[in-house]
Amino acid sequence: MTRKRLLMGNWKMYKTVAETRRFVEDLQGLTQKTPLPAQVETVICPPFTAIGELVRWVNASSQPIGVGAQNVHFAAQGAFTGEISADMLADLGVKYVLVGHSERRTLFGESDEWVQQKAAAVAAQGMQPVICVGENQDERDAQRTLDVVEHQTLTALNGLAASSRGADVVGTAVIAYEPVWAIGSGRTPAPEEAQAVIGAIRQCVARACGAAAADRIRILYGGSVKPENIASFTLQPDIDGALVGGASLQADSFLAMAQAM
Ligand code: PGA
Repeated sequence: MTRKRLLMGNWKMYKTVAETRRFVEDLQGLTQKTPLPAQVETVICPPFTAIGELVRWVNASSQPIGVGAQNVHFAAQGAFTGEISADMLADLGVKYVLVGHSERRTLFGESDEWVQQKAAAVAAQGMQPVICVGENQDERDAQRTLDVVEHQTLTALNGLAASSRGADVVGTAVIAYEPVWAIGSGRTPAPEEAQAVIGAIRQCVARACGAAAADRIRILYGGSVKPENIASFTLQPDIDGALVGGASLQADSFLAMAQAM
């Protein structure tokens, strides 16, 4: 099956509402000359506070951009001061939610089990979870990369596979392979190395959830992606797109990446 390419921008804790508006105006100006390519699905995950602004703009313009969120709480509602539920995000018009980003895992102590519950909560609201997995430097040095990413992947997918639509839900999810040491560092694995890990993740999905789900699920590479190197990753057979932090913050580089992949 042909999987539609996916470019996702993760803005992390950058951009106020005013700065989001400026990005949108810049992108609008640029795309009058060079539209976003129809064969690539584009998504931006701004901070929670800018989601409303971005959704309003996407709805009012003809730009084919989806809006995602960077985090979610797994409970439906309750006394969880400071948290946001999947239902609240779906209500805003969010289509994708990152779960288990390495910054959440390392800085905020998110466990594999939490990631599993978050992925399930997102899917239950009809949104697509983007399950982030990846090894840190020590795990890479100890040649444990495949063990780590397969364990993270399987734990998260267990929450989806257990739902009533099982393999269907898994097939529409997204996995982002982001080696922790490559995030924000300017270092990347060789594209062939990223392909080997992502190919192994796809085989692991096939073993756990069936060939159809593995064939359908989109798996992205993330970590120091920029306009100059994105194509080297997305040309690999199992890499369906990219999750990009720093280089997604400027409209010109976001557009350049969509065009290059
Ligand atoms: P980076 O971040 O592109 O700035 O390396 C990627 C990410 O954390 O998703």
